[in-house]
Amino acid sequence: MAQETMQFKTELEQLLHLITHSLYSHREVFLRELISNACDAIDKIRFQGLTNPDCLEDNTDWKITLRADEEAGTLILTDNGIGMSREDVIENLGTIAHSGTKAFLARAQEADLKENPELIGQFGVGFYASFMVAESVTVDTKAHGTEAVRWSSNGTGNFTLDAIEKADRGTTITLHLKEDAKEYLNEWTIRSTVKKFSDFLEHPVTLITTQKDEESEVEEEKEEQINSQKAIWLRPKNEITAEEYSEFYKHLSHDMNEPAETIHYNAEGAIEFKALLFIPEKRPFDLMMNHDPKAHLNLYVQRVFISNEFDNLLPGYLRFVKGVVDASDLPLNVSREILQENPQLEKIRNNLVSRILKTLAQIKEKDFEKFSGLHEEFGTLLKEGLQSDWSNKEKIADLLLFESTTKEPGEKTTLAHYIENLTDDQEEILYLAGENRDQIANSPYLERYKAEGREVLLMTDPIDDFVMPQLMEFKGKKLKAVNKGEQDDTDALKEEEKTFEGFIGYAKELLNGVKEVKLTTRLKDSAAVLVGEENTMSPHIEEMMRRMGQPVPETQSVLELNPEHPIVQKVQALHAANDSKAEALTHLLHDQAVLASGAKLKDPAAFTTRLNDLLSEA
Ligand code: ADP
Repeated sequence: MAQETMQFKTELEQLLHLITHSLYSHREVFLRELISNACDAIDKIRFQGLTNPDCLEDNTDWKITLRADEEAGTLILTDNGIGMSREDVIENLGTIAHSGTKAFLARAQEADLKENPELIGQFGVGFYASFMVAESVTVDTKAHGTEAVRWSSNGTGNFTLDAIEKADRGTTITLHLKEDAKEYLNEWTIRSTVKKFSDFLEHPVTLITTQKDEESEVEEEKEEQINSQKAIWLRPKNEITAEEYSEFYKHLSHDMNEPAETIHYNAEGAIEFKALLFIPEKRPFDLMMNHDPKAHLNLYVQRVFISNEFDNLLPGYLRFVKGVVDASDLPLNVSREILQENPQLEKIRNNLVSRILKTLAQIKEKDFEKFSGLHEEFGTLLKEGLQSDWSNKEKIADLLLFESTTKEPGEKTTLAHYIENLTDDQEEILYLAGENRDQIANSPYLERYKAEGREVLLMTDPIDDFVMPQLMEFKGKKLKAVNKGEQDDTDALKEEEKTFEGFIGYAKELLNGVKEVKLTTRLKDSAAVLVGEENTMSPHIEEMMRRMGQPVPETQSVLELNPEHPIVQKVQALHAANDSKAEALTHLLHDQAVLASGAKLKDPAAFTTRLNDLLSEA
């Protein structure tokens, strides 16, 4: 087939422009990205070979080779992995394959990459990192049962495709190095970079160098393995340095930051496996951008990489955890689908979850500040677990931090502390959910509790309103939203009720959308408040959903009136005296209760008219 020239997809063109023009430091990561791709390609074909040995083509001496050609100024990477067909090449190297890449672009345009070169690592821009060091790149590749193809590009605008002859399955990438990147032809530089990034890879990485024989002056090639190939998770903990852990973490996560916590252990007994897990310091970018609520750990069976797509290895709410699990008891020669069903996986999962939750609890005990930082990043995800992981509900709840009425803004407390600080036999953990602390700290719902000196937790994460009711109780204490549900009627109200009976009936008739009108002891300074039913959405959440264009069911709240309040008494008296002003004032009582609840007024114009009428009389 003749040469074909194709255009890069627009986003990719932008990405390449950024890479070639903005990124000068951390350039060495290109080698990690390319070796990592080669390693993945080997894992893929080896895995396919388990169920379809034909595709192996007897080419199973797994290896990644590097060759530096000083004369030509090229660095050449070869693997005998899965290779790519023509379609694969167009799809993988001509469009944006990696989900992180789009996110990277969105962010990179704003951020000055010159100042924040570490950004590139976070997004795993992978193959395209080659253009940081190469002025042009050629990829020769052949997949089992397809024609070989050559992809070439100088990283601007377009790429070309040619049909080529290539005997073996796999991929060879040739980088024509830029003048200022020739250091990557240097044997020592290559060795130290591979050592740093890829030492633990399970496939051998070899370096081919040419040497002149002193006597005969004949050029000889020498091939030498330059990585130790020791899977880091199989090595004893005390022999692994913090730096090795860190490099491995970065290799796995594409994160440039250090991991906040490393969890490395062997499970023995009913199930046997080795796990090396990392808790990142910051929420990984792809976690914020893509809405895939699944956790992706790398699963190995006896050192053979199986998949990073098993979603039953770790529940979704722990998807911020990165790492490797190597199990010895799982069968190797079965398809991914069958393996995914294996009951051992569930046991492994339960063990991993316990270990992660325990580690988080230990951090909380030992280093509250560090834990607060992690909670800031991952607290919202953990809360999803209250809904999905019933067996660990209490442990998860014990890891949550909240602001409270008795603490300074920004200072956090825990449910356990809340209970410890109770001075009487209070049976409930009181909380109020709202948009932000400023908005709820002076809310009428808190008046009574403030007067009684009770602590109320203030919850401002939008997910709180959904998940806290699911928790139901913690250490035997019920969770109670102070803006929802009944409260114990005191006998004191019985007397008042007689006085207010007529007015209450009137108000209920007058006010549309109010489920009921009644007297309350909930309030001290405020006149009226709206109270939702247990297990309904809070008004601020309804408001948020409306803004996002979501349908929100009409909920009917109860209007509670404070019989001690002079305005309430006044309106009652006006109504009793058949005064026509009672109507507008009753509406106003309701309106202010709506506003205080965090919702919006249905008819702001009517509200303004009533208020103005009232003001003009004053
Ligand atoms: P990522 O590896 O993060 O998916 P890359 O841009 O590095 O992103 O690579 C895009 C895709 O190209 C890979 O997902 C893979 O399918 C394919 N690819 C890259 N390098 C190789 C290789 N050496 N052998 C086979 N396929 C490759």
